[in-house]
Amino acid sequence: MENYSRAAAFIDLDAIYDNLKALKDNTKAGTKLCAVIKTDGYGHGAVPIAKRIRGLADFFAVATVEEAFNLRRHQVEEPILVLGHTQEEAFTRAIKEEIRLNVYDYETAERLSQAAVACKQTAYIHIKVETGMNRLGFQPGEQSLSEVEKIVNLPGIFVEGLFSHYSRADETDKQSAEKQHKIFSRFEEELSKRGIEIPVKHTGNSAVIIDLPQYDGDMVRAGIALYGMYPSDEVDMGRIPLRPALSLKAKVIYVKTIRKGEAVGYGGTFVAERDTRLATIAIGYGDGYPRNLSNKGDVLLHGQRAPIAGRVCMDQLMVDVTDLKEPVKVGDEAVLVGFDGKEHISVEELAALAGTFNYEFVCDLGKRIPRIYL
Ligand code: PLP
Repeated sequence: MENYSRAAAFIDLDAIYDNLKALKDNTKAGTKLCAVIKTDGYGHGAVPIAKRIRGLADFFAVATVEEAFNLRRHQVEEPILVLGHTQEEAFTRAIKEEIRLNVYDYETAERLSQAAVACKQTAYIHIKVETGMNRLGFQPGEQSLSEVEKIVNLPGIFVEGLFSHYSRADETDKQSAEKQHKIFSRFEEELSKRGIEIPVKHTGNSAVIIDLPQYDGDMVRAGIALYGMYPSDEVDMGRIPLRPALSLKAKVIYVKTIRKGEAVGYGGTFVAERDTRLATIAIGYGDGYPRNLSNKGDVLLHGQRAPIAGRVCMDQLMVDVTDLKEPVKVGDEAVLVGFDGKEHISVEELAALAGTFNYEFVCDLGKRIPRIYL
């Protein structure tokens, strides 16, 4: 058993490497692979991941410029793209650190150009095009085409990328993705007619890499698949084999027997129907383990499932271990996500029970949980 005090997330960096390799092997030759490691690598830890997959990943993407600065501070020297909004105060530092910023309006490009000229460096930017997500992006049309043309000619600006994002590529019905792809391609063609060729055009997320490889473009951006999870159960889960990188464990800190009729936890929502052996586990919603799993989820102990009894507390939860073959004792390790012998609990199983999905479950894992890298 690894040395940790109460609860820990174990991150298999080789699994992440292998997943990226599998994704790369299934994209068109020459397509760059951008590893999306925003939200601290979907909760898995952006810096150790970036270091493990360097050489294999061509690009990294994060959501905020602070996440990009943090990677640079940890000697991640590969190209980094900020997918979200960047405040003007950060422009000069971002330019100096060659961080690629997302530009989705003309005014931002103008201000970036001024900052680049002032520090005598080049601002690398990726222009975002609106194709159906309606989040950030230039609205396709005459005005945007002229604005992009103006941006390309701004001093100190290098338009390295043109990109967009799919809202429904993970669904069985691909009509929406097709439509978005058409809108993007048309915009790209219109730019071409004006003599503008942007080197890195990219739209694909994990769902596209898995189901729509014909949309690969110059680069694809892999997030959830990198961590060994599928974007939804509607994508072809047989096409690219992925291995979950995360397991979650916590220690048993107390064991006792309660009498039939006794209640457990806040609100007394579990009432023992028999004399019940109860184990208290050192993890709770303060660690990001969803409170919605109260009286719903299981944990694994000695290779068997033990159901959660009562409400998940902030720092602990209780499980019914009466039916376990092997007696549970203080110091035993409970598996909340991952394998224990032949038994397995997936992020998807818990996320579904908690009324959320795999992306949110892993991103919500708290700072209090140490990440142990395997
Ligand atoms: N690109 C953008 C702009 C995103 O916002 C995201 C994730 O939300 C991704 C790529 C990666 O998506 P996925 O995790 O589905 O691969």
